[in-house]
Amino acid sequence: MFKKILIANRGEIACRVAATARRMAIRTVAVYSDADAHANHVRACDESVHLGGSAPKDSYLRWEKIIAAAKSTGAEAIHPGYGFLSENEDFARACAEAGLVFIGPPAEAILAMGLKAESKRLMEQAGVPLVPGYHGADQDPALLQREADRIGYPALIKASAGGGGKGMRIVERSEDFAAALASCQREAINSFGSDAVLIEKYVQRPRHIEIQVFGDNQGNCVYLFERDCSVQRRHQKVLEEAPAPGMTEAMRKQMGEAAVNAARAVNYVGAGTVEFIVEQTGGYDAPEAMKFYFMEMNTRLQVEHPVTEAITGLDLVEWQLRVAAGEPLPLKQDQLQIHGHAIEARICAENPDNNFLPATGTLHVYRKPAQHTAFQRSRVRVDDGVREGGEISPFYDSMIAKLIVHGATRAEALARLDAALAQVHIVGVATNVQFLRGVLATESFSQARLDTALIERERAVLFDREPLGLPLAVAAAVTQQILGEWPGTQGGPATGFARRDGWRALGAYTRVFEFEFHGEPVSAQLAYGHEGGLHLAVADAAGPLVIGRFPDGRIEVEFAGGRHTLDVYPLQSVAHIFGAQGATRITAVDRLAHAGDTQAEGGRLTAPMPGKVVSFAVKPGDKVAKGQALAVMEAMKMEHTIAAPADGTVEELLFAPGDQVTEGAELLRLAA
Ligand code: ADP
Ligand code: ADP
Ligand code: MG
Repeated sequence: MFKKILIANRGEIACRVAATARRMAIRTVAVYSDADAHANHVRACDESVHLGGSAPKDSYLRWEKIIAAAKSTGAEAIHPGYGFLSENEDFARACAEAGLVFIGPPAEAILAMGLKAESKRLMEQAGVPLVPGYHGADQDPALLQREADRIGYPALIKASAGGGGKGMRIVERSEDFAAALASCQREAINSFGSDAVLIEKYVQRPRHIEIQVFGDNQGNCVYLFERDCSVQRRHQKVLEEAPAPGMTEAMRKQMGEAAVNAARAVNYVGAGTVEFIVEQTGGYDAPEAMKFYFMEMNTRLQVEHPVTEAITGLDLVEWQLRVAAGEPLPLKQDQLQIHGHAIEARICAENPDNNFLPATGTLHVYRKPAQHTAFQRSRVRVDDGVREGGEISPFYDSMIAKLIVHGATRAEALARLDAALAQVHIVGVATNVQFLRGVLATESFSQARLDTALIERERAVLFDREPLGLPLAVAAAVTQQILGEWPGTQGGPATGFARRDGWRALGAYTRVFEFEFHGEPVSAQLAYGHEGGLHLAVADAAGPLVIGRFPDGRIEVEFAGGRHTLDVYPLQSVAHIFGAQGATRITAVDRLAHAGDTQAEGGRLTAPMPGKVVSFAVKPGDKVAKGQALAVMEAMKMEHTIAAPADGTVEELLFAPGDQVTEGAELLRLAA
């Protein structure tokens, strides 16, 4: 076994690899960028080497520098994690040339599976079922159009070099094809350096079911069962589970063997995932009528590998290290078994109510479920690479943490995941935590009626939700203020309130509190009674308010017919409130300080986050209507459309395509 390895990655996956290495008494070398100088993954390793600037091209993608770091620190092997250099065959080859072991498949296997179109041609030869489509080398637009017409609509255009859910366009009608092709090619060349595309039939209501495979240098290859990753947004995974609900033994074996055939066709070694799109020809409740088609193979460890670890009790990073060191696979196919059910939720810095726009900022509060561990068979596992006080920067992707739970049954795992998510408290950066809880609660997810359009189908109950409600939010905010625990607000005296019998004053009087809740002004009256009680009135709720505080800082609020234990974290004028049923926030309005302070955005159009300008859809002099697309920006691996806030005329474009812009930078000027 290796004595020392270098981990050429960052964030949770670098920490996760380091944890297994430590358990196996292998020393670790971290590499880091400027932005990550104090990151957790650097602390998780025994030594570290600085690579350069924060942008990946200046650090985590500089492979000569990474190889030099491995040589100078005496590391024998490099673990690439996922993303970055993990699927770069030149890097794999360069490692070998430098006498280092690349902890991953052979360069030839990466190359063979690297382009979706070419891998499909290979799979066709190996007899693996494919989605009807066109994956030829001829990229003549007229030919592509004819092929799409032949395949039928809706059709899907995919960048052959694409990944991470990017570079895909659904085309509904033949007449939309040319425009969709151009837009897909533009994104493809921008993101992947190649505009080659393939065309597939767009499968209706499909499931995404993938098979974890593992090969070794002795010619063994096994499958570690499936993961269902059907719950997606923007073609990216949100929840992943294993085993796949409704999977039959026969289909599991068929898919597992197809995946092993796919891997064997490219002489695969190490951890890999064969992704299938599954057509549910008989609806949700007819697993026997499921048809699966090869989609792509990811030649690396996958983000969602922990659910497989949870149901098999294995450590896949340990398997990777053993195989890379030349050992045979630790187990044979008939020694592998599924235990219980596991689900992973990806906790991301993003705003689900704003089309999942990624968010950046400081993790002022970052609290995790009480009983979490970082072990592959634990009931609640958190894999992360951040800590309280850290930053979510615009340079890398938006995943903050992964929460993985295991239970005897799917229902048990689901309930455990919801309870664990309720204990994830993040303040300072928008996240999808409440959204995830919403997805778990949907009829579709809880009844396992899965397909990749689940989120779309359930949108009515998933977006713009308010789990706590106005009366409770106000009661919590008032409580926080009168306890004197909300700096900057006009709190009451700090004594005399931390008891359930409330206020003892000499006379009764009333205080008025002003808040803003979901953008609406709210006013609440708190009356301090003669008898030592509090009385709160807000909107149409009015009644006694009984408050208390626990030594751990949580507050107890009894108001409007309910008694709740809450965590409240004030951050400047906003109180972030977390309860068992969900979280919300409310803003304290200081009437004097904010008089007349309205935010006139007028015709200004600003970058929602730091990123790159991809293109402008308009030019100076163009008349535009409210909501019309004006420009496309790329940030945190996603494209964002900037739309006109009102009707107007474009006066001036302030940047050119390709320019880097800072958050809040004005991109163009509109005249009313
Ligand atoms: P998985 O299939 O393991 O869920 P994803 O496809 O979401 O993984 O990608 C895994 C990681 O690699 C993510 O962090 C993603 O940002 C990154 N990634 C993968 N492919 C690309 C790509 N082509 N461009 C940018 N990032 C990518
Ligand atoms: P990436 O490399 O970005 O992961 P994939 O080819 O794996 O790209 O596709 C990502 C997702 O897009 C799939 O999980 C699925 O939800 C959807 N998808 C891909 N191909 C099809 C298809 N032919 N029909 C319907 N949905 C598809
Ligand atoms: Mg994929």
